[in-house]
Amino acid sequence: MTALATRLVHPPPVPGAAPETAPSSTPIYQTATFTLPAEGEGRWDYTRSGNPTRDVLEAQLAALDGATTALAYTSGMAAVTAVLRLARPGEAILAGSDLYGGTGRMLEELARHGGVAVRRVDPRDLEAVAAALTSAGPPVAVVFVETPTNPQLHTVDIEALARLLGALPGRRPLLAVDNSMLSPYWQRPLELGADLAVQSATKLLGGHGDLTAGVVAVADRALGERLAFLRNAEGTALPPFEAWLLLRGLETLAVRLERQGRTAARVAAFLREHPRVRRLYTAESETPGVVLSVETGSVELSKEILTRTRLFRTTVSFGSVTASISRPWAMSHASIPENARRAAGLTPELLRLSVGLEDPEDLLVDLETALCPDRARISAGSAGSRKWSGSPGRCAG
Ligand SMILES: *Cc1c(COP(=O)(O)O)cnc(C)c1O
Repeated sequence: MTALATRLVHPPPVPGAAPETAPSSTPIYQTATFTLPAEGEGRWDYTRSGNPTRDVLEAQLAALDGATTALAYTSGMAAVTAVLRLARPGEAILAGSDLYGGTGRMLEELARHGGVAVRRVDPRDLEAVAAALTSAGPPVAVVFVETPTNPQLHTVDIEALARLLGALPGRRPLLAVDNSMLSPYWQRPLELGADLAVQSATKLLGGHGDLTAGVVAVADRALGERLAFLRNAEGTALPPFEAWLLLRGLETLAVRLERQGRTAARVAAFLREHPRVRRLYTAESETPGVVLSVETGSVELSKEILTRTRLFRTTVSFGSVTASISRPWAMSHASIPENARRAAGLTPELLRLSVGLEDPEDLLVDLETALCPDRARISAGSAGSRKWSGSPGRCAG
């Protein structure tokens, strides 16, 4: 087995490609239908059901996650929804308390109109998880968690959770982990005991902010077949052009994440010491990630910072080659009812930063300019000559 970085730039050839015309880059099979050799024959017939470009992508995604089956969807939410709907009417979903806003919205919809009971629990509290799993009421079919959580970066112990589920009497619920924050380059949930690894490929996997896509990866073949059946029935498979863009993004995943992880650590070290930062949230695990969050102690200041940064662009997403900044309270998490946002510990002053492939020094200057506009005129000059010290001192005023 070659290392992951090698595998990422060596996708398998398109199935059936003739040796004399074998392309070096995976072609985009931009077609809805395939001409069949004869009635009932042929490997592909219709792109909703199968497409060579998507097949190559899914082979790469399966290798990344250590999965038997990986399925690419039109968006992260299509992937999340495919997993949540494995719970049938009359069954329950046990979901983490701190989840992506869109996932929370879908859970509410399923509880209100889908006949599924939804229980929320802090998945770091294993006693609470055990109590929720064994409580009276509909049996839990799916346990759905995110780690690290977004935007507060709480870490859930996937292995401990998987052990707990295995030790309970009765049918073992499926454990699904939304891995969008780290990607399988940094964390492989299936190897830690999860049944389903889910992610928004819109973020780190695609990495360029130019497509929406989602992935579900599983170790169990029968579960993979069930998901593939449903995806074909519902028509949520990723189209060929997006599949190709995602393949293109995967080629640079290793270098992007190594570089962005180092930059994130650098930015975190800068912000940790900064007088205008009241609290810094970073990934608690060894894996750095590319996202960090800060509280300034003032909603007004946070809003000002959001308008002042130039390289950190105000964007709802994260994980792109371009740095971004957002205020989740009013943006990605705005659809969550206010009391639920507060209960999950989210504050209106919290800013989420995602670092890109910019020069780290430029990002520090951008942040210093936004945090301390008076001081920054001097700092920006010194950074221009690459002499930025990274110790900001006190802001004026
Ligand atoms: C963005 C995101 C999603 C949804 O993905 P889309 O591609 O936007 O549909 C789900 N989970 C997490 C953790 C996310 O960050």
